[in-house]
Amino acid sequence: MTTTAASFDARTDDVLRKLEETGQYKTLQTIDGPMDATIRLRDPDGGVREVLCFCSNNYLGLANDPRVVEAGIEGLRKFGAGTASVRFICGTFSPHEAIEHTIASYMGTEASYTFVSCWTANEAIYPTFAEPGDILISDELNHACIIDGIRLAAVIKKGVKKTVYKHADYADLRAKLVAAAEDPEVTGQIWVVTDGVFSMEGDIADLPAIRGLCDEFNAMLVVDDSHGHGVMGRTGRGTHEHFGMMGAGPSGGSASGNDIGEVDFFTGTLGKALGGGAGGFVAGTSRGIELLIQRGRPTLFSNALPATIACSANKAIEILMDEPERVEKLRTNVDLARSKIRAAGFDVLDSPTAICPIIVGDTAEAIRMSKRLLELGVFVIGFGYPVVPEGAARLRIQMSAAHEPSHIDALVDALKKL
Ligand SMILES: *Cc1c(COP(=O)(O)O)cnc(C)c1O
Repeated sequence: MTTTAASFDARTDDVLRKLEETGQYKTLQTIDGPMDATIRLRDPDGGVREVLCFCSNNYLGLANDPRVVEAGIEGLRKFGAGTASVRFICGTFSPHEAIEHTIASYMGTEASYTFVSCWTANEAIYPTFAEPGDILISDELNHACIIDGIRLAAVIKKGVKKTVYKHADYADLRAKLVAAAEDPEVTGQIWVVTDGVFSMEGDIADLPAIRGLCDEFNAMLVVDDSHGHGVMGRTGRGTHEHFGMMGAGPSGGSASGNDIGEVDFFTGTLGKALGGGAGGFVAGTSRGIELLIQRGRPTLFSNALPATIACSANKAIEILMDEPERVEKLRTNVDLARSKIRAAGFDVLDSPTAICPIIVGDTAEAIRMSKRLLELGVFVIGFGYPVVPEGAARLRIQMSAAHEPSHIDALVDALKKL
């Protein structure tokens, strides 16, 4: 017999009330049009008004690019709404082949495989790749789906171990690697897992340092670069391009002439810079991708990426590869925004990414500021505890190549009015 207090309805009301009392209750905003530099936001009174958008991951402005939209429509016409099947039964369409080829050439890997989201990609890779005797070592600020994917691996396969190192603390990573090497239960592969770009700080993982440690301890390196695609590196390949780690091989000494080894596997999303629709992928060796096709539970039991998304995202990546000047424009916007925000007297975290967090400290203050900004026509989200540490609440401004200098001026004017 369960008690009344433990029944679902009563305890759910309790949870929701507590969220409201502590200022953590989220109200969803409804947008009545495409994602772009400006968006049509529905007002509480039912009206719609145009506001500047500085909180989407539409880093290259491709979400509403006419060519991307057209490719999606064309895919829908040619292939219908979807596959009505998982990939291995009858769900692999030619657009899947095309986009996986494009992703591999974009990322500089042998092969890639798509999923309905990057969340799913992370749920596929760790439980499939890790075997009993392996250990997964993860940065403490890694994205929630990496954390859950690793947890799932440890639950599904008894004997898969996991541990966490302090954020971007490579002395701590070394200590965890030493402990793994000395652990008699760790008889298999050591894995190190990190975000390329961290979403709340906007900082980047020091991939050469991590690669060096991986080489020393014979570990495999997996990077989730969801916020790095289209943003990092001269041609927007990601954080590995930023560090000159394209195509050097795991142990370094490469055809490209630098000594830094490469990343073994990537996970990534198509739902941010790469078209913004949905979808995720794993990219890496043909061998690893083949294992995912044969053994990955999400690959075996979950539907394929809709063909329309495969077509629109494929077009988005092709545009990115053809037009590296988009990445350059994003970089110019990021530099301009950071310097103007700073000149206006705000404390913005420094980094080369498109994520510009302004630290304000108090959660209620961050929420109050984001509400005021929206009144002023600028859509920016305030993040507080428990999404970020207590006392480190922030406004997270995200820049896009779709922004013009006048948009940045309007953002800074609104910030000044706070
Ligand atoms: C946004 C994000 C994801 C989620 O991607 P979806 O395709 O929306 O599931 C996964 N990993 C990281 C690091 C992200 O930033």
